Amino acid sequence: MPYPHLLSELDLGFTKLRNRVVMGSMHTGLEDRFWHYPALAEYYRERAKGGVGLIVTGGISPNREGWLLPFGGTLNTVFDLRNHRKLTRAVHDEGGKIALQILHAGRYGYHPFVVSASALRSPISKFKPRALTGAGIERTVRAYARTARLAQRAGYDGVEIMGSEGYLLNQFLCSRTNRRTDRYGGGIENRMRLALDVVRRVRQACGERFIVIYRLSLIDLVEGGNTWDETVQVARALEAAGVTLINTGIGWHEARVPTIVTSVPRAAFAPLTARLRAAVSVPVIASNRINTPELADSLIAEGSADLVSMARPLLADPQFVVKAAEDRADEINTCIACNQACLDHTFRNERASCLVNPRAARETELVYRPAARARSLAVVGAGPAGLSAACVAASRGHRVTLFDAGETIGGQFNLAKRIPGKEEFAETLRYFGAQLRKHGVDVRLGTRVDAALLARSGYDEIVVATGIVPRRPAIPGIDGANVLSYVDVLRGAPVGRTVAVVGAGGIGFDVSEFLLHRAGAPLPQPRDEWLGEWSVDLDVTEPGGLAQTRHERAPERQIWLLQRKKGKLGAGLGKTSGWVHRAALARQGVKMLDGVAYLEIGPRGLKIEREGVDEWLEVETIVVCAGQESLRELMPASPQPGGPRFHLIGGAALASELDAERAIREGAELAAKL
Ligand code: FAD
Ligand code: NAP
Ligand code: SF4
Repeated sequence: MPYPHLLSELDLGFTKLRNRVVMGSMHTGLEDRFWHYPALAEYYRERAKGGVGLIVTGGISPNREGWLLPFGGTLNTVFDLRNHRKLTRAVHDEGGKIALQILHAGRYGYHPFVVSASALRSPISKFKPRALTGAGIERTVRAYARTARLAQRAGYDGVEIMGSEGYLLNQFLCSRTNRRTDRYGGGIENRMRLALDVVRRVRQACGERFIVIYRLSLIDLVEGGNTWDETVQVARALEAAGVTLINTGIGWHEARVPTIVTSVPRAAFAPLTARLRAAVSVPVIASNRINTPELADSLIAEGSADLVSMARPLLADPQFVVKAAEDRADEINTCIACNQACLDHTFRNERASCLVNPRAARETELVYRPAARARSLAVVGAGPAGLSAACVAASRGHRVTLFDAGETIGGQFNLAKRIPGKEEFAETLRYFGAQLRKHGVDVRLGTRVDAALLARSGYDEIVVATGIVPRRPAIPGIDGANVLSYVDVLRGAPVGRTVAVVGAGGIGFDVSEFLLHRAGAPLPQPRDEWLGEWSVDLDVTEPGGLAQTRHERAPERQIWLLQRKKGKLGAGLGKTSGWVHRAALARQGVKMLDGVAYLEIGPRGLKIEREGVDEWLEVETIVVCAGQESLRELMPASPQPGGPRFHLIGGAALASELDAERAIREGAELAAKL
């Protein structure tokens, strides 16, 4: 059996899990409205059908005070049972198990009823919490127990009590947010009292034959967090209070250390789970940046964990487990940890989905049915848009020919994957490659398509997915030998030691990262080096696990990153990743200038005007990252009667605000309809 450790059963005494894969909690937005529960049920059904051992739902608040957002999903009256039974039934029909996550947001709630241990506002919310009174604490404990009992009645196999990432129970657990002087504040014995009360009352309400998972913060990554000794003390007390499993939580949401973005090395925090496992006797679950069956299996094999939680990887591919079990891991659509369509959507209060799998959380809307009549399709351009269109169309039974002028599939993703910290992007191309083979797409690389080729080929449908060309702004001197486009740079053109980057969108930031990378330094970045750069001490000797010193990298180049508009650079980057890019560049001395006018390029470098002052930036190389323009020369001016139907997708359709999320989604949506 492939991945024998990951895929082996786990006997919890009163129940068995069919394997060690836990689908971690992920809020999709479908949880919050009752009319979305049928769609949510299908979303879970697909994952259960795909073989996941245990699904943990998105967080559901035990009461109004605990809402993350106003009118968030609840399970606190019998009237909610009907909705939740749809979910449990769907999962049980497919042989899976499901636990409800109970999440009280505490001061992270985005509404006026927020409560916490003390009346201290969080740096990431404008709402100041009210400190819970003794009676309020008792009400809260009752609410947890009531929700757990209702969960049991709704058919859930267990609950996960969310005690990490800086939510309410974590707020009680750490002196950072707990300044109480009553029996819930002071030493760790008092600060953990609420968590223990909750676990005991949930256990009491639901009996012994019910899974109770506690998600415990193993490293808070904020000042005023707990030390390792305190965390172990809490874990042992939780075990004594009756938890079945302990899940790993890493870092508070307000921490300034990235914990899940793509530049975080895979399984960076697993050593913490391993240490905890040695200190307790209940099974423990590893989490964060674990996205392949090989890695998950090895963590269990080496004794670092008993189970592995993967949330985003199960959004990306509901069939993750089945494919692993059938030794088809190369067909897994791997989560690239971009956060673009999942967490960034959630933070914008939009429904979560997945960049590499646009069906995620839209299972009932984006359906790939077998084609009524197989047609012959030409897809021109094997970038993300064309790949997505070709694979979906071929999976539905169409005869698809995919052309690309380049020698490899992937379009601009071939450049994206060269950025240090974006190595995961190569996985998407590996996945698409496997899909093209599986569905018999006729791939013609090294073939630049022109109108004549299309005219003589007799296709029924032609999908133009030819992407973009980089914009070349009209700056005097732009044709000089010291000017390169981002494409030249990422393909290896020599670049000087001093550089001005024109344009500070996603690509300007990425190119700066690329230019700061020391030639020959290993990629992906080794874990210890990464931990050192972000001051993470996995021994957690200091409260919160923040090391006193930071490993500094001598910058490879002096870079000026420039934009014309006024305001913070990188403002358009993802909410969950933009700050990471900004911090990484700032640490390496990149000078970020806004409100710049480009006056002239010459042998001296780049002349700019800023705040009324002209200045020469004396740089050896100017790299242009000034956005893109659509390449759509294959689109006929008007459709020919009786000729093929033309379709335009991805960058070829619209270059502005193009990203791979839109490109892949447009390809899939079009192909689902053809
Ligand atoms: P493209 O990827 O441009 O593909 C078009 C393809 O068409 C090319 O392969 C080209 O060779 C081919 N072609 C063109 N004309 C012809 C012709 N006549 N005949 C045959 N073939 C032709 N997006 C994100 O969402 N997240 C990121 O983190 C991210 N990072 C990036 C980092 C870098 C460095 C770069 C360069 C891009 C990044 N992007 C990112 C953007 C993302 O790659 C693009 O949005 C996406 O590739 C657009 O897909 P597309 O299929 O429309 O076009
Ligand atoms: P972009 O985000 O649109 O940025 C283009 C930059 O060029 C802006 O800074 C813009 O700012 C500047 N610019 C535009 N026209 C200009 C002109 N005529 N002269 C000089 N400067 C000009 O595009 P991109 O960086 O090329 O990225 C392309 C797409 O890939 C983006 O949509 C992005 O979402 C995606 N991407 C995403 C990531 C990610 O991490 N999520 C990473 C890379 C790429 P000013 O006009 O203010 O100067
Ligand atoms: Fe993973 Fe990106 Fe999909 Fe989120 S959007 S699940 S991070 S691939």
